[in-house]
Amino acid sequence: MELVLSEYHQHRQEEFRCFADSELDQDHQFPHQNLIKAGNRGYMGLPIPKEWGGAGDDFLTYILMLEEVSKVCASTGVILSVHTSVGTFPLLYYGSEEQKKRFLPNLSSGKLLGAFALTETGAGSDAAALVTTATAVDGGYVLNGSKLFITGGGEADLFTVFATVDRSMGRTGITAFLVEKDRPGLTAGPPEKKMGLNRSHTAEIRMEDLFIPVSNRLGEEKAGFMIAMSLLDGGRIGIAAQGLGLARAALEFTINHLKQQEHAGVNTDQSSAFIIADLAAKTAAVRLLIYRAAMAKGSGKRCTREAAMAKFMATDLAMEAATKCLDLCQSAGCGVDNPLTRYFCDAKAPQIYEGSNQIQRIVVARELLSQKNLSQL
Ligand SMILES: Cc1cc2nc3c(=O)[nH]c(=O)nc-3n(C[C@H](O)[C@H](O)[C@H](O)COP(=O)(O)OP(=O)(O)OC[C@H]3O[C@@H](n4cnc5c(N)ncnc54)[C@H](O)[C@@H]3O)c2cc1C
Repeated sequence: MELVLSEYHQHRQEEFRCFADSELDQDHQFPHQNLIKAGNRGYMGLPIPKEWGGAGDDFLTYILMLEEVSKVCASTGVILSVHTSVGTFPLLYYGSEEQKKRFLPNLSSGKLLGAFALTETGAGSDAAALVTTATAVDGGYVLNGSKLFITGGGEADLFTVFATVDRSMGRTGITAFLVEKDRPGLTAGPPEKKMGLNRSHTAEIRMEDLFIPVSNRLGEEKAGFMIAMSLLDGGRIGIAAQGLGLARAALEFTINHLKQQEHAGVNTDQSSAFIIADLAAKTAAVRLLIYRAAMAKGSGKRCTREAAMAKFMATDLAMEAATKCLDLCQSAGCGVDNPLTRYFCDAKAPQIYEGSNQIQRIVVARELLSQKNLSQL
């Protein structure tokens, strides 16, 4: 770790660790209190420039915060990640001055919660197949359609919604819009009953003859697909940090359990030792992959491959660690209220959202197969 983190980053990492350990609650409700506490400390707008109400920190610092928060509460981790990476960055990167003034300070402070609405029935991995329409009318657009599995669905204040102005154009017809939660015509369904991450509400949002003024269009008409894809690189590094936090939590729980066993006279057998050592080595490797991706993103470099690699490696590791740790702890880990059970249940969705891990592998392979120079492998 010292290979990567500066003194400043180590200091901030310690601060985030203390915050997560001492301030975050883990009850079963939507974590309003956690978000208020995070907002009070500037964590809702950590990588947003100070001129827009953010803390002006670098992307790596933001990723360190997500890792520590997710280790304690992965639901709060994904809410913070979505709010920032794909809920606030759209405005920072593509918003007009007027839009930035209207929304950014409140998003940065946490007064507003941001969300990202791309997925539809039949348009998940293939986002270009979306069918929500934006029909041009006097002064703006009318949106009709519905979006599925939207993080923050019933709780968020501002949605970046993707809709097509011309279905025959496929991805080139997609346009992005800023939709406030109180716009007439917008409704949210109840939170989905998921296997994990239940404190992070995920819901359908429906748009019925929803009028959006031109002043709420984000970027140029038909630039929406490019906007969505460009945001997801950063988003995936956040989800990777969530995976790393979960993997560390499972491993820490299990090592402590084995220590207690040894204390009680039960020695750790060799096969358990191998599992612990393998998981610890993979955790260390994944951490470097994530920090590398975060530094590339922070320096403004294209980081599609780095982000995809970090995302699938870290979230697969979270699932592997939770599964193997449950194998090791057995009855000491599998109660409904046991943290290890929670890590196991929470680890599945991160393999799916912000681009499934199968799709991330395709992204990496495609990029490699198109390159002449493989010296950076
Ligand atoms: C908890 C949760 C929160 C979410 N939050 C949001 C959110 O805030 N905003 C949002 O817009 N979406 C959100 N999503 C949706 C998520 O991004 C999609 O579920 C995801 O992109 C996968 O899409 P899908 O579920 O339609 O699966 P599909 O795209 O139907 O995929 C099914 C399977 O087919 C594979 N597959 C599909 N296409 C290919 C291909 N071309 N080549 C190889 N394999 C392929 C996939 O990898 C997968 O294994 C969320 C999902 C979950 C579970």
